[in-house]
Amino acid sequence: ISLKVAVCSMPIHPTSGSALRSLRVVVIGAGAAGLAAARELRSEGHDVTVLEQSPYVGGVWRYDPRTESEDLLGINSDRSRVHSSMYEQLRTNLPRELMSFIDFPFDSSLLGPQYSSDPRRFCSHTEVLGYLNAFADFFNLRPLVRTHTRVLSVEMADEAAAGMATGGAVRQAPSPPIQVTMATTTSSESLFGFVVTSERLGTPHHDKDSRGDSPAFDTGTRGGRRSLTAAPAAIEKEFYDAVVVCNGHYSEPRLPHVSGMFGESGAGAGGVQVSDAKGVFPGQQMHSHNYRCAKEWRGKVVLVVGASNSGEDITRELSAAGVRRVLLSAWSWKNDAWGTDTAPYGPGGNIYRYPMVSELHADGSATFTDGRREGPIDAVIYCTGYRYSFPFLRGAAAEVARVEDNCVGPLWLHMLPPGPLAPGLSFVGLPWKVVPFPQFQLQSKLIARLLSGRVQLPRRKQMEEDIEAHFEAMRAQQLPKRYAHMQGQQQFAYNDMLAKLCGPDVVPLPWWRAELNRLTGLCKRDRPDDYRNVELATISSDAAAALAAASAD
Ligand code: FAD
Repeated sequence: ISLKVAVCSMPIHPTSGSALRSLRVVVIGAGAAGLAAARELRSEGHDVTVLEQSPYVGGVWRYDPRTESEDLLGINSDRSRVHSSMYEQLRTNLPRELMSFIDFPFDSSLLGPQYSSDPRRFCSHTEVLGYLNAFADFFNLRPLVRTHTRVLSVEMADEAAAGMATGGAVRQAPSPPIQVTMATTTSSESLFGFVVTSERLGTPHHDKDSRGDSPAFDTGTRGGRRSLTAAPAAIEKEFYDAVVVCNGHYSEPRLPHVSGMFGESGAGAGGVQVSDAKGVFPGQQMHSHNYRCAKEWRGKVVLVVGASNSGEDITRELSAAGVRRVLLSAWSWKNDAWGTDTAPYGPGGNIYRYPMVSELHADGSATFTDGRREGPIDAVIYCTGYRYSFPFLRGAAAEVARVEDNCVGPLWLHMLPPGPLAPGLSFVGLPWKVVPFPQFQLQSKLIARLLSGRVQLPRRKQMEEDIEAHFEAMRAQQLPKRYAHMQGQQQFAYNDMLAKLCGPDVVPLPWWRAELNRLTGLCKRDRPDDYRNVELATISSDAAAALAAASAD
């Protein structure tokens, strides 16, 4: 799908000459987005604290062998949580040059052996984690990161003050609202400040090196309320002028509605109807969030639902690992021939395409939307994506970040709620089908500058009109709301706009990034089984030129 949207019509209002504000800013999460945000905010002169629930930086890139074993579908909001969705054999689906941050090369020869052990262009998750650790060290970000610290709630300071009788004391008394004069408004709006409540899990420390093989840390909560493993949690309330949310969006499973998947109905956390996780289907069911490796399904018949990145990858892993048959089921819009081509394919020659599964039966079989019924099936793996979730936002902050059909907000530029909470509350990393790391940097740069006052927000009405133009463009393409943050090719225009809004000193991303992204997509389409092993420079002179430009950059 190509999503053509009017991203924003905001005029640029860099403030020149005036003194910049330095604010106390909290970043929630120390994954790639949180690290990028911390660096940009600090460069702009803000006082930055990053709160990270695990003992590590790197977020999803830290492979965690554990699963949410008691609830492999991730239905119950009360389950114990594992953050990472990485699987053991995962290799990146983008070349490392393209994944790299703007000004920090992802080059194993430059990273050094303490960070790098896999020089492949499409490398393992371990290598990406090494890269993020190198980034944190090179820019001296670790002292900003308070690990073992889970954010429980974020609320506006005035709301927190109203509820103080029940909430306990705030460590640092809220300062009076800071006046932010909007460039294009006649009135002024306020940056109110936020009270952030966090709990300490174990001993907080400034992370030294998170790449080690130490056992995975239990980030588990039940219903986000308490730690399963840690000693009695210390609860802390702190005041910050601004909050940048970087909590990731690949941890909360999204599930389709498949008849027979569950037993009697009731409201489930994933938007599914469920009263308990025991459906009529007798086989195992899990979401790809809990998939770690293929070997447990050797000799079995597995139905994979969803053919996006994870679905395609996991299907091929299963095929290569000796699974008897892999049935890959997906919406037919993806490809007109989807599900009608019955020839098996894949590394084990045993992948069969089906249209969407419509029903699972008590005898272990499945019916598809074309009427075919297959079985018995031993297991179903749902590779159907993830939900945005901000369980810690309260009051007005929660209100502006409501998630409806997996669309957050609405938010201006996928980052800022129109109205008084912006730029005090912002989000980095919501767009999907993007090359994330450089985009995180550009988003963070703009947020840092809006907070300092170097760049001014447009008036609220204009932000709302920009958002409406975005939805209007989606409606014109008959795209449902859940595609609101999907960018695809549109990401490059969006990135250019972010750079432009930051001001003339911020250079747009170089041409080779869009070109390498395009060529990688073509290579993946033509050679889906082994595109990661293709020497990209040999596929065309364009590819060779893009790679040469990348290494010269
Ligand atoms: P995360 O990495 O999820 O970081 C969020 C952090 O926030 C975590 O450390 C978490 O512990 C912390 N956190 C969450 N809640 C709280 C709280 N309440 N309090 C404190 N801390 C909290 N991208 C690519 O560029 N190339 C790829 O090949 C690629 N493959 C992928 C494969 C898989 C299976 C998945 C799941 C993702 C893949 N991605 C890939 C996308 C990847 O998610 C992004 O690259 C990026 O790492 C996301 O970073 P993030 O910081 O937004 O989120």
